[in-house]
Amino acid sequence: MTAFSAIEEDREIESEEFTPGVEPQPTWCPGCGDFAVLKALKAAMPEVGRTPEETLLVTGIGCSGKLSSYFESYGFHAIHGRSLPVARAAKLANPGLEVIAAGGDGDGYGIGGNHFMHTARENHDMTYIVFNNEIFGLTKGQTSPTSPKGHKSKTQPHGSAKDPVRPLSLSLASGASYIARTAAVNPRQAQEIVAEAIEHDGFAHVDFLTQCPTWNKDAKEYVPYTDVQDDDEFDFDITDRQEAAQAMYDAESRLYEGEVLTGRFYHDENRLSYGAEKRAKGDVPEQPLAERYFDDDAEWERTADELIERHT
Ligand code: SF4
Repeated sequence: MTAFSAIEEDREIESEEFTPGVEPQPTWCPGCGDFAVLKALKAAMPEVGRTPEETLLVTGIGCSGKLSSYFESYGFHAIHGRSLPVARAAKLANPGLEVIAAGGDGDGYGIGGNHFMHTARENHDMTYIVFNNEIFGLTKGQTSPTSPKGHKSKTQPHGSAKDPVRPLSLSLASGASYIARTAAVNPRQAQEIVAEAIEHDGFAHVDFLTQCPTWNKDAKEYVPYTDVQDDDEFDFDITDRQEAAQAMYDAESRLYEGEVLTGRFYHDENRLSYGAEKRAKGDVPEQPLAERYFDDDAEWERTADELIERHT
């Protein structure tokens, strides 16, 4: 059986299949919110019916980047801020693969901000989970794009003079078709949102609030939180761009006032993903590039044997 014939295998899937045999125990600090992302992701996979062989997890650099080591699937630990271009290429080459990208707020909203904007604009069919702890954790506590104004750190000892990035609003303005925010302290909602994001056909962005108790000394635990779908104050239509934009702006502003608003903020089920649009136009080969790459009969591409010969 090849990686390709495993796609769409019909069988019951267990969450534990996503625990790797090697390095199954994460080395994140005690109390780190990153554990919650791993737990939500592993719990969501049986729900969406995808096996480890059908899934690719691409991560950036940072504490969050270790996720691909603790999750059993195809994995690619990319360089800083570059998880999305790798994920895009993989999805275009092998559309049957379930592609998930993940990284931190510094990785995704700062260093990889350009890729975030354009992957959302092009509506590539994938899930992007951003571990948002409002700090650079792995490199020991520098100010990140989502650190609040006035936040003191080694890089901004007198307090940041910058307004933080508004990730939900940026995502909507760029063109993402599913946008949600959840928090490590809300595992039930986190699992549901991650599963919805994976099932969505298009670019699904999940801003996942993950506390860093080690380096963010002002760390919030993101409690108490409010689910905007469960509170009458937030009666907005998640399919309406303008209403969603207002709700996101409120959620982003209130986060820095200590109020944590989570939930689904935007969902457009009608917009075609980039890959679907290209296929509808007849602009991509019928046979996925990933399969043709290993097709010894194809005339124009390098075969696996030729590659092996060239590099051995
Ligand atoms: Fe988590 Fe912060 Fe520790 Fe990194 S440094 S593992 S983000 S608590």
